[in-house]
Amino acid sequence: LDFELADLRRLRNKNSADIAAAFKHDKQKQKEKQDNSSVSNSENALLLALQSNSESARFGSANNALAFAISQGKDLKDSITQKEHAVSLLDAQLYDEARHLPNDTCPMSPIGDQSKAVVLETVNAHIFSQSSAKSPKNHVDICIAHDIAEFTRASKISGSGFYILKNYGALLELALSRYAMDTLVQFHGFTPILVPDVIRHEVLEACGFSPRAGVQDPQTYFLKTHLDQGDAGGEYNPFRLCLAATAEFPLAAMHAGEALKPNELPIKYVGLGRAFRAEGLAGSANRGLYRVHQFSKVEMFGIVAGGSDGLHRSNTMMDEFKSIQKSLFEGLEICFRILDMPTEELGAPAYKKYDMEAWMPGRNSWGEISSTSNCTDYQARRLNIRHFRSTTDSSSTENNITGSNLGFVHTINGTAAAIPRLIIALLETHQQENGDVLIPEKLRPFILDGKVNFIK
Ligand code: AMP
Repeated sequence: LDFELADLRRLRNKNSADIAAAFKHDKQKQKEKQDNSSVSNSENALLLALQSNSESARFGSANNALAFAISQGKDLKDSITQKEHAVSLLDAQLYDEARHLPNDTCPMSPIGDQSKAVVLETVNAHIFSQSSAKSPKNHVDICIAHDIAEFTRASKISGSGFYILKNYGALLELALSRYAMDTLVQFHGFTPILVPDVIRHEVLEACGFSPRAGVQDPQTYFLKTHLDQGDAGGEYNPFRLCLAATAEFPLAAMHAGEALKPNELPIKYVGLGRAFRAEGLAGSANRGLYRVHQFSKVEMFGIVAGGSDGLHRSNTMMDEFKSIQKSLFEGLEICFRILDMPTEELGAPAYKKYDMEAWMPGRNSWGEISSTSNCTDYQARRLNIRHFRSTTDSSSTENNITGSNLGFVHTINGTAAAIPRLIIALLETHQQENGDVLIPEKLRPFILDGKVNFIK
């Protein structure tokens, strides 16, 4: 069309008298086609013009056909914009529905609520029977007696639900963190890692901890700073910053959008993070260190290849995490039980979950000290973490990254040491008749070079 127009414009310069006639001719043509507004009409008009014998008539008709086509183009553009807007609204609606879908559930998991949890094993059961014979003190009293933790002063700093660790209390936290980190790195092939505790809301979402639409997640602390691009209102905003409830979230998001090579898998990270939880703390069972808004936690995080053997691989790593947790807690000489968690306790991301509960003699109850979950490919799909299916594929160029040579990884997470609850179990289990607290042998190397056997 451009080419034809250029040609016609040259002709116009040669014979300006013909322009008026062409214009007249064009008007006539336009009238004939008045009712027809399709693009093909403008094509027809152009065809007619090109077939015309008169050069000036050809020019007029073609010019008019062009104007007609341009107006048709504008209409099309408007309707495309409207349709694109409608599609993006539907996309957002679909995404909103999809993000509330939970993972599949392991068909072997017990069905029902917490009361349906199945005790798989109780370790150091003799501690349980011995402790009931004495009249053990609660960890809050032990903390105050030995001046190792403070609660009232902590509330001056941050309100209720926070605590200060001091003296042996502070050393116990450091010792437990090193005990867990060192054991995992030295004996189980984990990579030690320290990640940010501040995460984007989209990370929280992708890990499967999303609030209901428009309702603030009651467990999450959201930040409002001049740096983040989100606002602190109820609407979901992927860039809004929040405080991580567990190092699992930043560890999972580290590989978002990546395609991992076969020789990079499996990955086993052990991270130390601060966990922030804005949950309700009412009730005497939550006193002291038991349920707090901020605590330190050593977290295991694993990534294995997915595909047809993916479930076998992730279940195997989950069992490995469970046996590591077991040996860590055995080393602390506390009594604990291992639970196969029922369907209503899995949350959105877990396919299967094991919890461990320690006997806390001063509280006279079992208290959850760890959790390990197989999230299969649930988090990986949301974070887009994939792996090359074969070594040949992974050596290919970026252009060859297609759906067919990539699969989604599986992710597994597990608590290695949730510090405050371990401190409770230690203090309440190892308190002596005279009030001293015995430090278990395995922990001693991590407190003042093994020189301390008792908190006196
Ligand atoms: P979760 O990531 O919720 O499975 O928690 C991991 C572990 O952290 C639990 O097994 C508890 O031992 C501990 N934990 C969870 N919430 C709190 C809290 N609010 N205060 C202290 N410890 C907690």
